[in-house]
Amino acid sequence: MSVRPTVGVDVGGTFAKLGLVDVRGRVLRSTRIPTEPRRGPADFARRVQARVRGWDFDTIGLGLAGGVDAAAGALLFAPNLPGWAGFSFKRAFRGRVVVENDANAAVWGAYAAALKRRPRTVVGVTLGTGVGGGLIVDGRLHRGRDGTAGEIGHQVVEPGGAPCHCGKRGCLEAYAGSYGLARLARRLMRRPPSPLTPEALAAAAVAGDPGAGRVWREAGERLGAGLAHLVLALNPDAVLILGGVARAGRLILDPVRRAWRAQPFQVPFARLALHAPAEREWGLVGAALLAREARKH
Ligand SMILES: [Zn+2]
Repeated sequence: MSVRPTVGVDVGGTFAKLGLVDVRGRVLRSTRIPTEPRRGPADFARRVQARVRGWDFDTIGLGLAGGVDAAAGALLFAPNLPGWAGFSFKRAFRGRVVVENDANAAVWGAYAAALKRRPRTVVGVTLGTGVGGGLIVDGRLHRGRDGTAGEIGHQVVEPGGAPCHCGKRGCLEAYAGSYGLARLARRLMRRPPSPLTPEALAAAAVAGDPGAGRVWREAGERLGAGLAHLVLALNPDAVLILGGVARAGRLILDPVRRAWRAQPFQVPFARLALHAPAEREWGLVGAALLAREARKH
C-alpha cells in the first residue's frame, strides 16, 4: 500500500473543501473552491485538478451529496447537484478518483481517524441542517445495492409528527436536524434566540432556559429512539454522532442514553459505546481515507 497522501474533497452546495491527507488522517494542507454546480461536473473536475496540481498525492476521494455508484465513479442521483448524476468522475480523473456519498465519507473519516481501535460495526449519524448517516459493518463501509444505505434521517420516529423536507411527517431529521431544532424551539420557548442556531439553543439551555432544555431533551430522545432501531438491527460496537448539532455534547447525548436505558431488551445497549468526537473536517478526511482504502482492494 502506498503511504503517499491522498486528496479528499468535501463537495458542498456552495464551496468544496480540498485537503491533502496523510495515512493517519491528518490534514497536511487544505484549500477551497466555489462549487458552482450550474457550471457542471466536468468544469468542477477541471477546477479540482487545477487546484491540486503540484500536490504530491496518490488518489482523490470526492464526497458528494447523493447516491453513489462507487464502482463506476459516478453519482446515481443528486437532488442538490442538478445535472451531475451519470457524469463519470472516474473518466475525468483518469481513474485516480473514488466517489463517495458525503455522509458516508464523514462517518468513515471519524471512524478511521478518531476511534482508537477500529471496532467492527459502527452506526454513524451526521447532524447538520439535515440528518444523514453511514453504516460500517464488519470493518467495511456498507453502501447497499443503490448506494443509499445509511439514509437514517428519514426513518419515522413520530408517526404523523413534524413535517420533514423530504415530504413525509415525523422523520428523525424533522427533530434532530438544525431546522427541526429551530421548529421545536419556536414551539417550546417563550423567547427563542435570534438567530435561531443550534449554538444559541445550547447556550440558552446551559444558561438555564427551561424551554431550551426541553428542545434538547425532545431532539435527543427522538435521536435515541431512531438510533435504537439501528442498534437492534445491527448490534454495533459503537455509535458515532457527528456534525454541528453534536457540539451540544451532553445536552443531546444524555437524552440519547436515557432513551436507550428505557429499552426493554438491554443486551445490545449494555456495552454499546457512544462517541461524539470533536468536530473536524471529517467529510474531507473520510473521502481521502476511503480513496486510500479503495486502492488496497
Ligand atoms: Zn424525511
